[in-house]
Formats: sequence, structure tokens, C-alpha cells
Amino acid sequence: MKKKFQNNCMNEFDPNALDELDAIKHIVTSIKSTVKKEMIGIRDSLGRVVAKDIKSSLDIPSFRNSAMDGYAINLKLLKLNEYVLEEKGVSLAGKPYIKKLEKNQTIKVMTGSMIPDNSDAIIMKEMVEIIDGKLYFPKNIERNQNIRQIGEDIKKKDIVVKKGEIINHTHLGILSSLGISKISVIIKPIISFFSTGDELTSIDNKLEKGMIYDSNRYILYGLLKNLPVIIKDMGVVKDNEKILIKKLNQCSKLSDIIITTGGVSVGDADYIKSALKKLGKIKFWKIAIKPGRPLAYGKINKSFFFGLPGNPVSAVVTFQLFVLAAIEKYVGIKGRKYISIKATTNSNLSKKKGRVEYKRGYLVQDSKTNIVNISGLQGSNIMTSLSKANCYIRLEANVSKVNKGDEVSVIPFDIKI
Ligand code: AMP
Ligand code: MG
Repeated sequence: MKKKFQNNCMNEFDPNALDELDAIKHIVTSIKSTVKKEMIGIRDSLGRVVAKDIKSSLDIPSFRNSAMDGYAINLKLLKLNEYVLEEKGVSLAGKPYIKKLEKNQTIKVMTGSMIPDNSDAIIMKEMVEIIDGKLYFPKNIERNQNIRQIGEDIKKKDIVVKKGEIINHTHLGILSSLGISKISVIIKPIISFFSTGDELTSIDNKLEKGMIYDSNRYILYGLLKNLPVIIKDMGVVKDNEKILIKKLNQCSKLSDIIITTGGVSVGDADYIKSALKKLGKIKFWKIAIKPGRPLAYGKINKSFFFGLPGNPVSAVVTFQLFVLAAIEKYVGIKGRKYISIKATTNSNLSKKKGRVEYKRGYLVQDSKTNIVNISGLQGSNIMTSLSKANCYIRLEANVSKVNKGDEVSVIPFDIKI
């Protein structure tokens, strides 16, 4: 029979624990956004934060053009000629026909080609009948149909990308359509991190008895890689106050933000607290969330410091909730919000009252409903249930039990189209 594993981590409710949202608010308000910027080519700006509003110096489209392959007409002339005209010329994309339409005339136009000044509708090629060189047009024509008007996408002086937006592929399209080759972006802050723990072995070394491979540095690398930051992996540090102090000092000289994992709890080998007390302004929080209760936050010299818990899943969740908010504030990213949706749980869920819980879930959507299951064991050491998950199920602090069939809030990881 398959052995059943229980969640064996019985964290009791701690009345002194800080509310999750208060902790985020505290972090965000204590960080001043950097104003350091640089001019870079637009391709290099992908994923970077825009340092000032970008305005358009053009109308897009900058000339009236056709949305279809077809014929440009002037409605009055057409009615006058009882919907029969002759083809007088052709306007190709990049090779415009510049004369005006005259009596009896239409011109053939291609998608994107400039259209005559006095044309006021484009008729799709497929709607036109040609008999003996004469073109017969349908009678249900609307003014301006199939015409792309000047400035209908972007007007001169419009702000096309706002300060604080992250450049994506569509921005690259807009910027290039405006002939903008360089933009001003926020300089990438340097983020250094290291793991702490006497049990940790680097992945190239042999695993001795009682030791484990260090995962958190790789997780942090993965979490930071697509952000507009420079990553400095500072390795593994033993549970030793002196060495920790030395390493933290070194990190504070070369980075804007320092992240460590492990050693922030109340165990005999948890030295982050004592090291930091000697070094900087640090707050130690027990936060009313699961996973990820202990967290250290503060400053060492000019660097912001985050001491995350050692359990890999706790490190991920606390990074996503607290460190990400800090990085976003530091580089001035505006307007990012988690999208939370409602789903029906297919699992019975239980938790302790008094803390918010992020359960790892797997969300499926059919035509009518969102259904979520937990994705495996929920201990904060269980990485496989996080890798199988595609969402967090967020259970509020005052909830203690959720039954199969109840509605829950779900935060999807990636929303793809
Ligand atoms: P700590 O926060 O140092 O008490 O560690 C809590 C748990 O996380 C322990 O089981 C550690 O062995 C584990 N842990 C700490 N750091 C790491 C790491 N870098 N990679 C994998 N597991 C870790
Ligand atoms: Mg430890």
C-alpha cells in the first residue's frame, strides 16, 4: 500500500506575528526609488523599466491608407456613375498613387497603401465585379469604410510608454514605428545573495552524510533572472557569526539589495539575527503567513537586506511577496498587481486561524468553472508540489476550514494567451 505522508509542520498561531500586508506596506514605504538612468538601444531595453514618459513625435498612421486590398472610391462620384467606374491606376504599399480621383475613376489599392486625398471609402476586392473593363460596385457602402485614418492608433504628442512601465515586445513595435532607436531606462540595481547553513553542499561536490545540496541559490537565480537587475551569487556561508558578518559587509559594498536564506529562525545555529544586530538596522518579523513565517528586513550600510527562511518553498513565497515588492519599488515599476480569481476547490483544505496561507494548487478551467486542487504535500520543504502547481490558493487569516465545493481565491502563476 502506498504510504501516506502528512504535513508534519505544526506551526502554532503566534499573536505577535505581523500582518502580511502591513509588512509589505512597511517595506515599500521604507524604500526610495532609484533615479539612476541610462540611454540604451530599444532591443536592449526589453524587460527594463522606463525612466521617463516617452512621447510620440508622429501620428500613426501618418497618412490615410487602406485596410484592405480593394478599390478606393469617392462615394459621390460613385453614386453619380450608378456604381460603375473604371480603374485609373494602382497604389501599392510604399508606391503611392498621388492624384485625386476624378469622374468615372477608381484606383486599385493594396493594404497599407496611401489612398487618394478625396477618396472616402475602400471597397474590398472580392465585392467588386469586373465586366469588360468596367467595375461594378455594391450599393451598401459606408463612408470611411476600410480606411485607416491619420493618428487613429497614436497621435503626435501622445505618451506611448509611461515612466515605470516595463518594456515588452509590443512597446518595441510602438517605439520602432515612431523611429525611436534609444530610450532612457532605470539602471539595473545589483542584487547579491547567499545561502547559509552548515548542512549545505554546492552541487559540484560529493554529498556527505547529513548534508544536503543547496537549492535556494538556484531558486533565487531563477526568480531574479528575468527581472531588470544584476545578479551576484555569493555562494554558501557556514552558520558562523564571524563569517556571516564578513560576508554581509562584503555584499553591502557591492550591492543595492542583499538576500540571504536560512538562519533567521530561533534554532541554535541561526546566526543571521546576531550578525545583523552588529551590522545594521534590522527588523525581525514573524509574519502571519504560511509558508514563510520568519523574515528579517532592514539595511546594512546603503543596501537593503532580506533574510529569507531556509525552507525552499518559504524562500520562494517570501521572495514573491516581500522581495519582489521591494525590487519593484526600488526600480520604480508601476501598476503591477496580482490577479486573483475565484475557483471551486476540489480538495478539503484546513489551516490554523490567525495567518494567511498560500497553498500550492493546480487550477483547471472548463467552459463554465474554475476548479482547483492542491498540487501535493504542503510542507514548506516540499518543492515538488510547487513545481506541479500553477497557482496559489490564498486562504484568509480568519479561515480554518474549506470544504470541497467551496469557493476560494486563487492567484495564477502565469497568465498565458
Ligand atoms: P533554516 O531556516 O536555516 O532553519 O533552515 C530551514 C530548513 O531549510 C532546513 O531543513 C534546512 O536544511 C533547509 N535549507 C536551508 N537552506 C537551504 C538551501 N539553501 N537549500 C535547501 N534547503 C535549505
Ligand atoms: Mg540553517
